[in-house]
Amino acid sequence: MVDDVQLSSLYQQLILEHYRSPRNRGELDPCSVEVERLNPTCGDQVVLRLQVGDGVIREARFDGEGCSISQAAVSMMTCLLEGATLEEARALADRFTALMHGKEERRQELRQLGDLRALQGVSRFPVRIKCALLGFEALRVALDQVEESGASGA
Ligand code: ZN
Repeated sequence: MVDDVQLSSLYQQLILEHYRSPRNRGELDPCSVEVERLNPTCGDQVVLRLQVGDGVIREARFDGEGCSISQAAVSMMTCLLEGATLEEARALADRFTALMHGKEERRQELRQLGDLRALQGVSRFPVRIKCALLGFEALRVALDQVEESGASGA
């Protein structure tokens, strides 16, 4: 079990693997934008850092603490962000948010979510959806800030 959420064992393993060995954790220099988000109901914290140039996310890093779902989700997310345009990053956030709200996705679209597919079962546990979406909340704010400041270099 991943906390109180029962998911298929294969998906649980993937979530725990990201939780125990998070990808892209740490500082970023230079850093175009840094956004912190909290999920008080669960005690999750995520700090997302992006380096953006020419409208493309060059690097993504994060720090944080909290439940396995929140930390695994942001680790999985950063794996998909590097090399993505700001538009692609927004589309990814929309797609994953739809998945968490139980909207059926076509197989091809699901594939684009990479390891994040492991979190699909979380949609059945409304309390935990906030955990899974915390990193993407940070991402949306970060993308807004980059676009407002013109730091995208586009
Ligand atoms: Zn949580």
